[in-house]
Amino acid sequence: SRPQVIIIGRPNVGKSTLFNRLVGKKLALVDDQPGVTRDRRFGEATLLGLEFTIVDTAGWEDEDPDTLPGRMRAQTEVSLQGADVALFVIDARVGLTPLDEEIARWLRGQDVPVVVVANKAEGRAGEAGMMEAYALGMGDPVALSAEHGEGMGDLFEALLPHL
Ligand code: GDP
Ligand code: MG
Repeated sequence: SRPQVIIIGRPNVGKSTLFNRLVGKKLALVDDQPGVTRDRRFGEATLLGLEFTIVDTAGWEDEDPDTLPGRMRAQTEVSLQGADVALFVIDARVGLTPLDEEIARWLRGQDVPVVVVANKAEGRAGEAGMMEAYALGMGDPVALSAEHGEGMGDLFEALLPHL
């Protein structure tokens, strides 16, 4: 079966925009399983010829920004079990928030490779956030603009070793 890539991150960083960008015209094939995967969306992604299943998550939506309730964390943990690599998305314009730090701490304890994605980095707007993303110590972040389709070649190169 295809390798699986899971998108993780706090609300509003552009996870779903990235999902849609990677799934593109095949969006109709998105598998929504109400009840079973309420907080997850599956799609078949293509990135420069690389094919994989992409999983959009919403496990940290509508939560107190300073805590990670165990129920939501457990749901994302289940999603992680089938993943070959996790894309940890941050907002390069905002920089790291306390919730980003909390998710990073949690991800370090998980048994899955992580690629940090600094999204909303079109133009020069994301430069400060890129520096903060480096400081996470989770490898070289990928500067991306999911909305404008910039940085997709760098994302490809970052994913390739894991798929
Ligand atoms: P999610 O909550 O993480 O799934 O985030 P969404 O994909 O729903 O995006 C949240 C907001 O960020 C929306 O208004 C998007 O249009 C915007 N957004 C997403 N990607 C980018 C990007 O690359 N650049 C900019 N400037 N905005 C973006
Ligand atoms: Mg979303």
